[in-house]
Amino acid sequence: MEISKKPWPILSVCGFKNRVDTNPDFQRPAVWSLGQKQLLIDTILRGYDIPKLYWRKISKTPEKYEVVDGQQRLRTIFEFHSGGFNLARDADDIDGIVVTKMHYVDLPEDLRLRFDNYALDVIVLSDTSEDEVREMFLRLQNGTSLKAQEKRNAMPGKMRGFIKDLALHPFFSRCGFANTRFTHDLVAAQITAIEINGGPCHVRNSNLNAMYETELEFDSAGQKARKVRRVLEYLAQAFTEKTPELERYSVVSLYALVSHCLEKYAMQGRQDALRNWFIQFEGTRAAQENLPADKSDPELLAYKERTSHSTDAQDSIQWRHDFLLRKFFEAVPDIEPKDEQRLFSHEQRLAIFRRDDRICQLRLRCNGLKCEWDMWEADHKVPWSQGGKTTVENGQVACPECNSAKGGQA
Ligand SMILES: [Zn+2]
Repeated sequence: MEISKKPWPILSVCGFKNRVDTNPDFQRPAVWSLGQKQLLIDTILRGYDIPKLYWRKISKTPEKYEVVDGQQRLRTIFEFHSGGFNLARDADDIDGIVVTKMHYVDLPEDLRLRFDNYALDVIVLSDTSEDEVREMFLRLQNGTSLKAQEKRNAMPGKMRGFIKDLALHPFFSRCGFANTRFTHDLVAAQITAIEINGGPCHVRNSNLNAMYETELEFDSAGQKARKVRRVLEYLAQAFTEKTPELERYSVVSLYALVSHCLEKYAMQGRQDALRNWFIQFEGTRAAQENLPADKSDPELLAYKERTSHSTDAQDSIQWRHDFLLRKFFEAVPDIEPKDEQRLFSHEQRLAIFRRDDRICQLRLRCNGLKCEWDMWEADHKVPWSQGGKTTVENGQVACPECNSAKGGQA
């Protein structure tokens, strides 16, 4: 990394406006209030110091930059220069000059020249890797705007070490989202919370903070910790390459799905089936977005709705979990329970019910009765007593009357 520092008059910096990206993806969104913006301009007009700006050179010809630190300051300067806002109505005089409510163009020439010639300290980083830039950004932000996960990474107790270590699992490097501001650590904390809870739960920052506080003695070699690693290992076997479809919220859902299925079903060797189903599901879901409202699948719309806000709330995660489980069992209907068992599970029943469109498949006493959810039975096509498996594939909707008639035949 090469670092050079130069004082740059505001006027020439403004000439670079279109070559400076003030919103690279690791930056915070602009959150300055009008009052903060006015204070910065007032500071400049009085000739006081403002903090350095850090730019990363991203192209030599044409010369282009992205802002590593100082995004709000730079945007404010650009905005004031182009007439985007004026000074406060109660602004104090500057060197005896009244400046209340003035836009840039209203400023008397002396002040305008002072603004134009004010030298910004710009530190230019060249030949910098993405990681170096992120590292530098975090250090520059340190202490002023630490985001929740960064704060948790500084909390006492054993959960911190476990999560930090977990976030380095190879599976995370295959996800579609980068580790910007410890997003991998955040997701690692979320899935750990789900595992500790034994299923979907709130995984908002406040809940995760509480987990760090109550699990001060968390055993990284204990049963829950080993289970978390086992699920991630399974996911890493399923997703062996970088997979853009693995977004933050879908990783949390996939975790919950695999965690659940590893307990109850024979998942050995089904990694490819999991991956293929997930990629296909995401493809179908993405295709929905180009369809007119009346042509789109209401369930997928509801799913999208639940992935766009309150994503970290328990009811959203639970809904997505139930939905994805059912979709998974519909798509991979030959998954068998781990232990030989006669009763279909809830998610298997849901998948069978939807696949058969609620219609009795036996038709021994009915003519294809459309069943209600609380009035049907999941029947083994090949009877369980004859070695038929308790799988979605071998299951079918039966109305109670037909089902008992079938029982009578056997
Ligand atoms: Zn029937």
